[in-house]
Amino acid sequence: MSLVVQKYGGSSVSDADALRRVARRVAATVREGNQVVVTVSAMGDTTDELIDLAHAVNGSPDPREMDLLLTAGERISMSLLAMAIHAEGIPAQAFTGAQAGVITSEHHGRARIIDVAPARLLTALEAGKVAIVAGFQGINPVADDVTTLGRGGSDTTAVALAAALKADVCEIYTDVDGVFTADPRIVPTARKLDRITYDEMLDLAASGAKVLMPRCVEYARRFSVPIHVRSSFSGLEGTWVRDDTGEGDTMEDPIIAGVAHDRSEAKITVIGLPDVPGTAARLFEAVAKADVNIDMIVQNVSAVQTGLTDISFTLPSTRVNDALAAIEADGAEIGYQEVVTDEQIGKVSLVGAGMRSNAGVSAKFFAALRDAGVNIEMISTSDIRISVVTRAELVEKAVRAVHTAFDLDSIQGEAVVYGGTGR
Ligand code: ADP
Ligand code: ASP
Ligand code: MG
Repeated sequence: MSLVVQKYGGSSVSDADALRRVARRVAATVREGNQVVVTVSAMGDTTDELIDLAHAVNGSPDPREMDLLLTAGERISMSLLAMAIHAEGIPAQAFTGAQAGVITSEHHGRARIIDVAPARLLTALEAGKVAIVAGFQGINPVADDVTTLGRGGSDTTAVALAAALKADVCEIYTDVDGVFTADPRIVPTARKLDRITYDEMLDLAASGAKVLMPRCVEYARRFSVPIHVRSSFSGLEGTWVRDDTGEGDTMEDPIIAGVAHDRSEAKITVIGLPDVPGTAARLFEAVAKADVNIDMIVQNVSAVQTGLTDISFTLPSTRVNDALAAIEADGAEIGYQEVVTDEQIGKVSLVGAGMRSNAGVSAKFFAALRDAGVNIEMISTSDIRISVVTRAELVEKAVRAVHTAFDLDSIQGEAVVYGGTGR
């Protein structure tokens, strides 16, 4: 008997019909002789709608109350799914994150899982029940408050449960047939990958491919949880995310895994900084105090006449206000002239383990962007990734150009997007 953890995303549980379809799939997995733990996201765009509602009553909602509000979304879907599974004649019991033993840090809106104590889930499984867990949420035992794990956090719930229960597989059910060489919503000719390594998947996810949350991939790599990303709308085999075993490979792996894009970041430029040792340290110490994660950094050459320089960096748009407040608070020590924020940026990244051993990948990437008329504002690289920042409105054009330049387009027809609004 295998233990299977299944996660169904928002578009897979968007209405009563969808919930019944998921219940049938869960029931079929049980009838095949497996023990099943299911984690669910909120129905459809519920989380976005709750966020809009919160901002309609208060421009800067309190993070604790916000988490209480948002966790309600997953409570709705978990209990409805339990009822739908009962209707299939299968016993099932739903649990909130706290009841399922998902223990987190105190950071509201971006809490980290620090432990999973799944005693109640084990009891349910031993009693022959399907255990259903509300995704995206946990509890901070110090404050005894519910927390959320950040957008897309149900993916992380699923992998954390799979690791804690030593599940045989963690299946992530979504609205596309797996991980593709680019987002099928903007590149219909994107190709489904049969498998991808944790490292490549992590860079794709961290570069904006929201099919998996980056932290879930980190978690899976740390605990060697095999992830199978697949569609809840089709019976097709999806994409396996796991360590490269090297087995069964008759061909060399492709150089490029895919192209990712991200329009959720902003750029802050701090102008007129003294070009002396310690300036960057003071600036980024201020930002770090506000617990803001930064992504790319560029420092300009200083003007000879003034000895002053500028530093630009990118960060999640949602953290701009916190970063600005932190820079302003330490303004006297940092000693800058002006701060400018730009929300209209987008990032395009090319990811592939084969970059390590293939010359000319960057040249081809930049040539594709040039031919598409896309201007590059910032560049960053790792051993398996190249990323550029450009104007947000050029992102789709850039992704398609790079995808074609690296011969990633499928000749077998278009990728199917089964549901979801892409929100
Ligand atoms: P869920 O609600 O199931 O969690 P998400 O919307 O979070 O679904 O993630 C699935 C979406 O991720 C797809 O509909 C697709 O638009 C997007 N996506 C972005 N990049 C990729 C990629 N490389 N492969 C597959 N899907 C991708
Ligand atoms: N409902 C949450 C969100 O929309 C968590 C998830 O879908 O994974 O971000
Ligand atoms: Mg998701």
